[in-house]
Formats: sequence, structure tokens, C-alpha cells
Amino acid sequence: MKPLLQVSDLQMHFPVREGILLRARKFNRAVDGVSLHINPGETLGLVGESGCGKSTLGRCISRLYTPTAGSILFAGQDISRLRGKALLPYRRDIQMIFQDPMESLNARHTVGEILEEPLVIHRMGDKAQRMARVRQLLDIVGLPARSVTRYPFEFSGGQRQRIGIARAIALNPRLIVCDEPVSALDVSIQSQILNLLNDLQQELGLAYLFIAHDLAVVKHISDRVAIMYLGNIVEYAAGERVYSEPAHPYTRSLIAAIPVPDPHRKAQRQVLAGDVPSPINPPAGCHFHPRCPEVMERCRSEAPELIAREHDHAYACHLERD
Ligand code: SF4
Ligand code: MG
Repeated sequence: MKPLLQVSDLQMHFPVREGILLRARKFNRAVDGVSLHINPGETLGLVGESGCGKSTLGRCISRLYTPTAGSILFAGQDISRLRGKALLPYRRDIQMIFQDPMESLNARHTVGEILEEPLVIHRMGDKAQRMARVRQLLDIVGLPARSVTRYPFEFSGGQRQRIGIARAIALNPRLIVCDEPVSALDVSIQSQILNLLNDLQQELGLAYLFIAHDLAVVKHISDRVAIMYLGNIVEYAAGERVYSEPAHPYTRSLIAAIPVPDPHRKAQRQVLAGDVPSPINPPAGCHFHPRCPEVMERCRSEAPELIAREHDHAYACHLERD
């Protein structure tokens, strides 16, 4: 199968200004050489602590940002440098859902106006056809037709996320970048939204890049999972495998941090020491070495490459696991 999305060696470096000097000499290497692919109709989970660059990566893929280097092939076409009109068809094909719908939905517009807007921008149908589509979208995401005249603040967090999803699917996209879409919601509401995303994927053949800081959230939705640390992917595996046979010490620590309901196992729960180092001055060698429980001498100077050890399982670590 040809991938829908093929990202190669993607970099997004932001200049950092020091004091009043406008000459930027330092860079925040938010995304520092990421390669990944997503097949049609597939979900790739992307997991890492906050500040690891996962949102920046998502924004490059949906072309809210223009990456510093690397390529983004969407259906075979490199979209990484396209601008203006040339980007318009991909704005339809690739959509985004955000963590906080209140920030992404215009508070002064009614839900009807919010959902009609992408249809107007992309010149879809006349007014009557657009309003019919708006009512259809509300029905698909499980909101009543009367929502059309209401404002975002009149809805709960879960309902607002449904509005965000309705807007994202309005133009029949092929890929949706979901940036922590359930992180701000109560656990019971989280599963409703995850179920909705799952159903939509089945019905519409959507592919997802599903970003989360928590491995537990992506478990039931991901076909494959990528673990990101300080601007790089450190491990890729099929969904189940990440949980049963994590190889990279960072992935292992994320698994260990998933809360376990069994009180007897509580004592075993490990919490990763220290914070994520700054992407402006990443540690030499393996970026994870200052926090790694299995660090070796060579890790301090030699950066491990991301190597595929078996079909669909790759990790970047000097340790050999069997
Ligand atoms: Fe730990 Fe070394 Fe592997 Fe990095 S390369 S994760 S420091 S063992
Ligand atoms: Mg984020």
C-alpha cells in the first residue's frame, strides 16, 4: 500500500532571540529530523511529554507551519514548501482538531457560521446546500439541529469538541491531525469522543495522526505508535507491541507511568526523573542520556540511530534487546 503521508527528515527550528540582539544565533530544534508515514485509513499515535515537539510536528504536517527542512509527501506530492493557492487543495485534505476547542472556535460566531465557513472558503454549493451540509454535520457528530443558532460558550467541553470535529470533517478530508483532542476532557467524555473518532474513521476512511502525552489514551485508537523525545522519534511499533514489548528506555518509563488500578502494583510504579531538557541546547550523544536508567558510557557522546530491528518495530538506542 502506498502511504497517504510520507514525512522524511523533517526539521522545524525556531530562532531564539537573546536579549535585545536581533541576530538569532540559537535555535529551538523543536522538530529535528523526523521521518514517519501514515497509510490511508490508519491511525498513527504520537506520544511524548509536553515540549517534545509533537504539536509542532502536527502543525508542520497540516502546513500551519512551513518546516525548516525535510519533505512532506501527501498522496505523492511534496507539500512542504507550497504556499498560497497551491496549498488550498491540501487545506481541504488535511484538517486539524485541537486540544481546546474554545480557542480554535470563534466565540463571536454561531455554530452554524463556524461550520459553514470552510464550505464558503472552498466554494462548496449555494447557501441552501451549505446549510443542509451543516445540519448533516451536526447529525453526524451527535448534536441537535438547533445548535446552528447557538454560540460555542453555550456548550460543554465535550460538545465543543464535537463542533471542532464537525468542522474538521466538513470538507471530506483524508487526514486529520488530532492534537490532544481529549486531554482537557473528563475520562467519561474522553471515551465518547474517542468512540466518535473511531466511528468516523470507519465510515469516512479517515487517517489520523493522533497526538497525546499519555500512552493510555492512544492505546485503543492507534494501529501504530511513535514515541517522541526532544524533537526525534525514539521508537515505532505496532499498537499492541508498544505496551507488551517496549524497547526504548524512554518508552518503558512512559509505560511504567500509566496508572495501574491494582493497589498491590502501586509500589512498582516508576516516575521518570527530571524534566525534558531544553531543545535549544539538547544533551550530546543520546538526548535521553541524562534521564536514562540504563545509560552507558558511549551514550554520552554517540547518538543512536533509529534502526528497524523487525518489521514495524524500530528504536533508537545502543542497547540490544532480544
Ligand atoms: Fe539510554 Fe543509552 Fe539507550 Fe539512550 S542510547 S536510551 S542513554 S541506553
Ligand atoms: Mg502540545
